[in-house]
Amino acid sequence: MTPLKKLATYYVHLLSRLGIVKFSISLAGAIILVALAIQMSVTFALTGQVSSVDLIRSVFFALIITPWAVFFMSVVVEQIEDSRQRLSKMIRKLEKMRSRDLQLTNRLKANISQLNNEIDEREKAEAARRQAISHLELEVKQRQQAQQELEEHSALLRSFIDSSPDLVYYRNEQGQFSGCNLALEQLVGRSEKQLIGLTPYDVYPEEVADKVVETDHQVFDNDEPLTYEQWLEYPDGRKAFFELRKVPFYGRNGNRLGLLGFGRDITERMRHQANIEKANRDKAQFISTLSHELRTPLNGVVGLSQMLLDTPLNDAQRKHVNTILLSATTLGNIFNDIIDLDKLDRRRFAVSMETMDFKALVSDIETLTEMQLQAKGLDFRFEQIGPLPQSIVADPTRLRQVLWNLTHNAVKFTEHGQVALTIKAKSVAEQQVELEFVIEDTGPGIPEDQLEQIFAMYYQVEGSKSATGTGIGLSVSRQLVRAMGGDIVVSSEVGKGSCFTVRLTVDLDVIPDEAEQIDHPPLEILLVEDVELNITIAKALLEKLGHQVEVAKSGQQALAMFEPDNFDLVLLDIQLPDMTGFDIANQWQQQYSAAQMPPVVALTANVVNSKSQFQAAGMVDVIHKPINRNAVVHCFNEVFAIGEEPQVEASVSPKQALSRSSLPILDLDLIEQFCETIGVKVLNDSVDLFKKVMPDYLQVLESNMYAKDKQGIVSEAHKIKGAAGSIGLARIQRLANKIQSPELPAWADNVEDWIYQLSHDYPEDLKLLDKAIAEHIEQ
Ligand code: ADP
Repeated sequence: MTPLKKLATYYVHLLSRLGIVKFSISLAGAIILVALAIQMSVTFALTGQVSSVDLIRSVFFALIITPWAVFFMSVVVEQIEDSRQRLSKMIRKLEKMRSRDLQLTNRLKANISQLNNEIDEREKAEAARRQAISHLELEVKQRQQAQQELEEHSALLRSFIDSSPDLVYYRNEQGQFSGCNLALEQLVGRSEKQLIGLTPYDVYPEEVADKVVETDHQVFDNDEPLTYEQWLEYPDGRKAFFELRKVPFYGRNGNRLGLLGFGRDITERMRHQANIEKANRDKAQFISTLSHELRTPLNGVVGLSQMLLDTPLNDAQRKHVNTILLSATTLGNIFNDIIDLDKLDRRRFAVSMETMDFKALVSDIETLTEMQLQAKGLDFRFEQIGPLPQSIVADPTRLRQVLWNLTHNAVKFTEHGQVALTIKAKSVAEQQVELEFVIEDTGPGIPEDQLEQIFAMYYQVEGSKSATGTGIGLSVSRQLVRAMGGDIVVSSEVGKGSCFTVRLTVDLDVIPDEAEQIDHPPLEILLVEDVELNITIAKALLEKLGHQVEVAKSGQQALAMFEPDNFDLVLLDIQLPDMTGFDIANQWQQQYSAAQMPPVVALTANVVNSKSQFQAAGMVDVIHKPINRNAVVHCFNEVFAIGEEPQVEASVSPKQALSRSSLPILDLDLIEQFCETIGVKVLNDSVDLFKKVMPDYLQVLESNMYAKDKQGIVSEAHKIKGAAGSIGLARIQRLANKIQSPELPAWADNVEDWIYQLSHDYPEDLKLLDKAIAEHIEQ
């Protein structure tokens, strides 16, 4: 602080302490003192002396000055005081403000610290949040990963299921589809999305759905898995055979949710099996064909031995011829068994019931059994109980075969003792008798536990003379007798012998005495036959009956020799070296009118074809080989019966009456016409289209064949027929026509062969068609 400031402060301080009066007096005193001091000093300095006047003047002066000084000072002090007070006020204010500021500052500080706290907390919370977020992110990541893994798993599972060729599906308790794999989508032609919620009735044809729902119920009712097989159809009509397995499935809580289904396409397996069966059938067919072939010379041996026996012979010769006849008959019966076995196998077996001479049959069996026994030195006892009917309605060949098998076995297995044949006829109705044939022997007998088994195919009693037999005789015999409405039973005691009994109820009938054949003049007969033995027998027999015979040994020869007016009858062998009897009949049909033609009778060793097949080919009747007098007389009586000449079945059109091989493979006229009108290019395009679609058609057709779906076969064959016909594939068209005609006789037996033939023939026929078109272009 400056001295002046200090002085002023001191002054103000003094003034305020002393008050204005005291201060003024003090100030006056001070001024007087100062004035006196100054006056005296100055006066003394100037004059060297101090007078009282000077003193009084100084006092006086001081007294005059003092009020002014006081006033002035007071004003100053006042002002200073004022300003001091203002200052104090200000200071107070400032202090107030300061304290307010302070308060504010404190509050601010508090706020700041609170804020800081909050910030801290927030930072902590933020950190916690960040941590939580990172946890969450981690969790999300893990979940995403888990989700991805799950998705990958389910995609893997899905692609497993989808890439499975097996059907996989699930249905809920209400029987609605809940999901499926690709294989099922393809089968039903709908996506899984479209399928969900549908029932089997919305998806499959009714009869298929019936089975599906029925098996679903079985699974639900029994709460157990089930396996069964069923044909299912693809949208393109192709059928597949599925092995279906249905398994109930449950939720976590053990509630059943529905069923899981799996389906395996076993069509190939089935087809393979069918091929094996077919191969077996082909084998049997081969054996049967072979048997037929062997029978031809054998028939010659039988026929000629019989003719020899009608001539004068010495005892030794007669014995030898008898043995020849017996051996040939045995062989013939074995062949008959084999042929019947094949037919039974192919389910083409049918007995042909006709009026037959029963007494002649009994006599034959008696003679043949006796002849066999004589050769072995055994006794024969023949007994006939009651009168036997002269003629009955039965299948003569089969009845003979059965009795032969039983008597032959009796002789074969008996080493000592005898064989007894007892025949009994008991009337059961006015025109019906029950025949009983009892064949008893004193052979080794058959163990009781094998009594039924001996009727099984290829069964031979262990330890018996198995090498001597085939094991088919009894099986075939029982089936033959059963087919005729009867049965065979056996009783036996080991070591004592066996007794076979055949019971059969037959109708009675009257046959004209063979000597009393219907009177007709000697006939001019053309015999078409290539086997020398057969020619000799037939010619001898026919000539004995008073007819004249000319022989043609081949198809060509027959065609060359034949003139309708020159012959009253034609006996036409079906199997000739150069062509079939059907081919010849067909040519004659085309050449001559029905009125011009003499009756044509088929000669065949084939017992497979039915009479209607020959009639369909324009032949009036059929004689089965070995040809015998009775058959010939019977046939001639039928053919030349007045006003009863058999006609070719009216329903058969001439075209149908042609044999297969004689019909053209291609319809060349149509092909020519096509080439002329629509042009070769369009025809070739049609052929290409046919080549493209045919494998699919065939696949569907075959699948229908394996599924035995008649309707499916018919509709697919119909398509093939149309397609083949439109490009001139005549043979394929005809085959398809047969396949699509279930009303044809024996359709069910043949359709499989026709389908095989169709698939076998069509590539060849297509080659020929291509060639024909190419030739047309060259022209
Ligand atoms: P095969 O005689 O050709 O063996 P079969 O079918 O006729 O075939 O007979 C089957 C089997 O039954 C014979 O192998 C034989 O074991 C037995 N059998 C048939 N007939 C007699 C019989 N009269 N005495 C003893 N065993 C017989």
